[in-house]
Amino acid sequence: MLSNIRVVLVGTSHPGNIGSVARAMKTMGLSNLYLAEPRCEPDGQSVALAAGACDILKNLTRVESLHEAIKDCALVIGTSARSRTLDWPLLDPRQAGGKLAAEAVSGPVAIVFGRENHGLYNEELQACNYHVFIPANPEYMSLNLAQAVQIICYETRIAHLALENQAAEVTEYPLMEENERFFEHLERTLTGTGFIIKNHPGQVMTKLRRLFTRARIENHEMNILRGILTSIEKAVGSKK
Ligand code: SAH
Repeated sequence: MLSNIRVVLVGTSHPGNIGSVARAMKTMGLSNLYLAEPRCEPDGQSVALAAGACDILKNLTRVESLHEAIKDCALVIGTSARSRTLDWPLLDPRQAGGKLAAEAVSGPVAIVFGRENHGLYNEELQACNYHVFIPANPEYMSLNLAQAVQIICYETRIAHLALENQAAEVTEYPLMEENERFFEHLERTLTGTGFIIKNHPGQVMTKLRRLFTRARIENHEMNILRGILTSIEKAVGSKK
């Protein structure tokens, strides 16, 4: 999922920033870096600032234009150091992270960062579905490129982890007919052990039903219970 999230740097002019961006990305689990019309090449300074994230520098993709970098993406979010450059749908970093993580499930998405001196041009911002602005100090809103990348990648990671947790928390319960089969199995087994007397069953099955229904047995627990009943049936059968 995270590998579907592409960080696109447009017109970057400082090799150190490219290295710092690689590091910011790798710490957040992202790896897909595009340089669109870069105005410098990654060099020793990039490598030094990338630290353990040199693999991202090695595998980066160089392209001629922003268009080339995003043409196969269904969602593109552009960053701007000004809150309203154009009248365009504007997200905060948390909303942007949420959209990137959610839509990366179905295909490539991109987050686009601008030039150190001029940001993104209007035509480039207009190629994006949304804009994102980091609500910084109104008197000094322009973050260092790699630090802006860090913030957006962090929010994306948090949203991604939340999605993963949601998926892991889905509990599967047996269907009603499976519950019925369990109660039949339970009754058969308890009759086999002599705990339930066939002609005088009393209320025991009703009470056990109430107990197990209240417990909201999950699928894997039901499997254990069925296994226990089968093992009791075998033990009783071999004694007879
Ligand atoms: N002078 C430029 C600032 C560029 S900063 C301008 O006025 O646009 C370099 C890049 O870092 C920006 O293009 C953007 O991608 C990112 N960035 C910096 N500060 C940001 C902020 N507050 N919100 C969103 N992105 C920001």
